[in-house]
Amino acid sequence: MHSKKTVKRICPIKAVLFDIDGTIMNCHRAGKIALLKAAEEVFGTAGNMENVNFQGKTDPFILYESLSSAGFNKTEIAEKTGILKEKYIARLNNIIFSHKATLMPGIKELLLMLENSDNILTGLLTGNFRESAAIKLSRFNLNRHFSFGVFGCDTANRNDMPLIAKKIIDKKYSIDLDFGDMIIIGDTVYDILCSKHAGAVSISVGTGWTHKEVLLNHKPDFYFDDLSNTDAVVDLIINN
Ligand SMILES: [Mg+2]
Repeated sequence: MHSKKTVKRICPIKAVLFDIDGTIMNCHRAGKIALLKAAEEVFGTAGNMENVNFQGKTDPFILYESLSSAGFNKTEIAEKTGILKEKYIARLNNIIFSHKATLMPGIKELLLMLENSDNILTGLLTGNFRESAAIKLSRFNLNRHFSFGVFGCDTANRNDMPLIAKKIIDKKYSIDLDFGDMIIIGDTVYDILCSKHAGAVSISVGTGWTHKEVLLNHKPDFYFDDLSNTDAVVDLIINN
């Protein structure tokens, strides 16, 4: 008698990549305050950083946009980015647990469900430096949920991030992931645009600072006001 063979998938087949600010949490300007003070310490000015919109931008790009207005060129900024980053990280570390922070609805539950789902890799795709991402996530003890990430220190251009994620997944897990199996969750237009650039699946979420209509105008694959309906989000990730 032949027993029915079950084919078991032995590798994760979907990668879910989360943005941090406005998607996982709101730091209520803790990052901006720390970066402003670090820039003033290193460059003597933060340029027009107070007026720069941080949303969806990488930390290196924010630095360039802020400091170029004060007359610093790309090379001058790049030369001091290392020391500025050190000071920024130290300042952020000092304030993260005393500063107000909000965890977005459903995030903790969603991360746990993804962790308990077969064949799903959970990572980060964020403009934060690797170190500042870890500090922010430590506020809610979330670092353990993410096995890899793409950060602002990997590229200043968010559109490059999905391909970098694909390469990391290939190197770390020996999986040649199709972009159609990469789900990018974020709160800004830039998260949608970088997904489209790569051919990944975008889940746009309205917990950030961008108006819902603006997000919908950029035609994300899926949109949620927030991620509190975790069953629906996980179902969509697994079955889309
Ligand atoms: Mg964001």
